[in-house]
Amino acid sequence: MNSWAERVERDGVVAIASDLIAVPSPSGEERAVMEFVAGWCAERGLAHQFVAKDPARPNVVVSVGDGDAGPTIVMNGHLDTVPVSDAAAWRTGPYEPTLSDDGTKLYGRGASDMKSSTGVMLYTMNLLKDAPLRGRLQAHVVSDEELSGNFGTIFLMDEIAAGRLPRPDYCLIGEKSDLKVRNAERGIVGFEVTVLGRASHTAAARVSGINAIAKAARAVLALEGDIDRFHPAIGKPVISVNTIRGGVAHNVVPGECVFTIDRRIIPGETTESAHAEIRATLDALATEDPDFRYEIAVDPTGDAIPANITPEDSPLVQAIQAGARSVTGEDPPYFVAWAGATDGRFYRRAGIDTVGYGPGGEHAHGANEAVNVADLVTQARVYAETITRLLGVA
Ligand SMILES: [Zn+2]
Repeated sequence: MNSWAERVERDGVVAIASDLIAVPSPSGEERAVMEFVAGWCAERGLAHQFVAKDPARPNVVVSVGDGDAGPTIVMNGHLDTVPVSDAAAWRTGPYEPTLSDDGTKLYGRGASDMKSSTGVMLYTMNLLKDAPLRGRLQAHVVSDEELSGNFGTIFLMDEIAAGRLPRPDYCLIGEKSDLKVRNAERGIVGFEVTVLGRASHTAAARVSGINAIAKAARAVLALEGDIDRFHPAIGKPVISVNTIRGGVAHNVVPGECVFTIDRRIIPGETTESAHAEIRATLDALATEDPDFRYEIAVDPTGDAIPANITPEDSPLVQAIQAGARSVTGEDPPYFVAWAGATDGRFYRRAGIDTVGYGPGGEHAHGANEAVNVADLVTQARVYAETITRLLGVA
C-alpha cells in the first residue's frame, strides 16, 4: 500500500458518511445536502461548483489537480435517496447516523445507497488535494439517480458534451459492489405483447370466444424462467413479465390481453437478439395452437439501454485491480450479481472507461439500511491507490 492509501483514517471516513446521512435528501429535495457538500469543500479549500439544471436539484463538481498535466478521473456518487416509507420498522432514526455497538456497521437512510460511498469520494478528494497529481481528479456529486438522472448525471454529461465541464478519461462509480470490480452492466429493453382473442358472451366461451387472458397466461409461463447464458463480468441475463392487463367486464370473454416484459441483456445480447428469442417462444405456441395470435412492440417507451462493458485491458480496470491487490492482498473478483443499472452507463455511453467499486451493505431502500464500515476504509484506500497510479504519483 502506498503512503497516500496509508493515510486513510476510519474516523474521518465515518464522519463524512454520517454528516451526509444526517441531511435528509429524498429525490427531489437534494438542495440542502448539496449545500452541505459545498460548505464542507469550502472549509477544506477544495475547488467546487454547483452545476444545476434545476436550482432545487443541484449537483456539485469538486476538482483538484490540473487537467493539462494528464488524464482526468471522475468519481461519481449520488446523494439522493429513496424516501422513508416505513419509519416504524427502523430501530434507529433514519436520519440519525448510528454505529452498531461493535462499530462494524453504520445505519441510516442512504448508508448503503449511497451516501457513505459518496462520503468516501469527498474524503479522497481532500486526502489527495496536496498530492503531486499529474492530471485532474474530480467528484461528480449528483442528484436524481434514483428517479431518472435527468437532473443529475445525464445533465452533467450534457454539460461535458457542450464543453462546459471537462471530459473525463476515466470514471469510478461507488455504488455497492461488495468490494468487487464492476466493469460491466446489464442493458435494459422492454417489450409489450398484445395477445389477440375474440370477445364473446361468456355463455359462448366454448363456442365462438377466444379468451385472450387464457392465451396470455400460457405465453407468460412460456417466457418466464432462467436464461441459460453467462457472462463472466456480469452473470446471467434476466427476463420478467412485470405488468398485465386484460378484460373489460365480468361477463365478457376478453378479446385482448396486454403484458409487458422487462428483459435485462448481457454483453453479446442485443435488443434484436432478445426480440428474436421472445418471438421464437411465442411462435412455437402459435404453431401448437392456431388460436394463439399476438403482436409485439419492441422498446415501446424508447428508453432501452444496451449492455455496456469497459474491457479488462482498460488502464482503469488494470489500475483498480492492482490497487485492490495492494490494499487487500488479493485479486478482486468481478461483481457477478443480480444487480441493476447505475449512472455508470451514461459515462460508458459517452465512450468513457468506467468501473464500479463500492462497499458492501444491506437493506438498501428498506428499513435499517446499513453499510460495512471496514469496507468504506478499504474503498478509500483502493481509490487512493487507483488514482495515484493513473495520475503518476510515486
Ligand atoms: Zn444508488
